Amino acid sequence: MQHVLVIGGGVIGLSSAWWLLEAGCHVSVLERAPAVGAGASFANGGQLSYRYVAPLADAGVPLKALHWLLQRDGPLRFRPEADLRQWRWLASFIAHCRADVNARTTARLLQLGQLSRAAMAQLAPVVPPAAFGWREAGKLVVYRSARAFAAAARPAGQQGGTLLSAADCLAREPALADAQARFAGGVYSAGEAVADCHAFCLALDQRLRAHPRFGAVLQGEARAFVTANGKVTGVATSAGVIGADAFVLAAGIRSRDLAASAGIDLPLYPLKGYSLTMPIRPGDRAPEISVTDFERKVLYARIDDRLRVAAMVDLVGEDTSLDARRVAALKRLARQTMPRAADYCNVAAWAGLRPATPSSAPILGATAYPNLWLNVGHGPLGFTFACGSASILADLVTGRAPPFALDGLTLR
Ligand SMILES: Cc1cc2nc3c(=O)[nH]c(=O)nc-3n(C[C@H](O)[C@H](O)[C@H](O)COP(=O)(O)OP(=O)(O)OC[C@H]3O[C@@H](n4cnc5c(N)ncnc54)[C@H](O)[C@@H]3O)c2cc1C
Repeated sequence: MQHVLVIGGGVIGLSSAWWLLEAGCHVSVLERAPAVGAGASFANGGQLSYRYVAPLADAGVPLKALHWLLQRDGPLRFRPEADLRQWRWLASFIAHCRADVNARTTARLLQLGQLSRAAMAQLAPVVPPAAFGWREAGKLVVYRSARAFAAAARPAGQQGGTLLSAADCLAREPALADAQARFAGGVYSAGEAVADCHAFCLALDQRLRAHPRFGAVLQGEARAFVTANGKVTGVATSAGVIGADAFVLAAGIRSRDLAASAGIDLPLYPLKGYSLTMPIRPGDRAPEISVTDFERKVLYARIDDRLRVAAMVDLVGEDTSLDARRVAALKRLARQTMPRAADYCNVAAWAGLRPATPSSAPILGATAYPNLWLNVGHGPLGFTFACGSASILADLVTGRAPPFALDGLTLR
């Protein structure tokens, strides 16, 4: 049976490793950080949005983006870089901003979402949901303007969401009653979940280490692929060259440079986002349902006894520094919307890079090398799609047919 080296110990790499083991492979993981799950998977929004997949690229988004850029503390920030990849990604993103393209991507992501939900349920006997705060919280997307609410009505109906009036939103999620703003209405989706992605990575890591076909989590930084006769023969790392029969690239945004070392051009760009995590005290009015504030682009998820608030898309390159102004802006927005939900004097702020494709669809499977596979580009929904993407990847690596056609989800 083949030995597979998975590069990257984030939620995508670890899930890939598990499904490859289950498919009969021998697997090791290469991770540059001292611990797994320390990249984009560390403190993300915690929403498992299996049905509300909403690709970022859509008709009208370029115009909205201009409006957001003009807002002082808007959801979008752009810092031009002397990096062709930024401009190429933007051009391709704009080309994807069409209703028909959005509808096609949405259809594929819905399939991947359903598969991911089922795959995560399969994991439950191995990685108990309680170990990572998994809870079927449902999801409520609230709209401030009647126009945005009306525009959401049709797609929401198609995706099985329930339309709620403003009063129904407050009845369903009382934490919204404290908001300074008025809402025009909302779309509720039952079956969506919340969980702690980092805790999921740690729990999965533990299970991997106990699996008889698992080698190790090797600590080292992959620097380049070594190729010969049309195959990948190894990975040059900070700890020397590591060989394997097959290689899975799942290194988040860094996959871009590693792929380039083998002549593969991945259309990825880092979309920087921020999160705040605050303890929920007895008597706080935290949301039970996970909430998305549509116009402000802010997510709220109660994970165990903490409130996670996540937002912002900053196109600023591979910069993970905490910009104090962005953190303060997010705190202000959260306080205006859910002032009594948690202890705002005790905030842990974090920034991470969503490894995003222009279409918002991940890139799964084959490359020009028969033994190099991809599981990259999950953008804003990597936790949601991790288990489904991993099961598809394991199918492809072991020569099984995936459960649905993958057009739009491959490098081609
Ligand atoms: C603010 C924010 C909110 C989000 N909210 C949600 C949400 O609510 N729901 C959701 O589903 N998704 C959400 N996401 C997206 C999700 O977090 C990402 O899509 C997902 O974590 C990507 O996982 P990954 O494993 O591809 O990348 P990462 O988690 O970044 O993992 C890549 C790993 O590879 C390692 N690595 C990198 N380079 C090398 C190298 N050269 N050699 C060895 N190892 C290397 C890194 O150290 C890292 O551990 C959010 C993201 C952000 C930033």
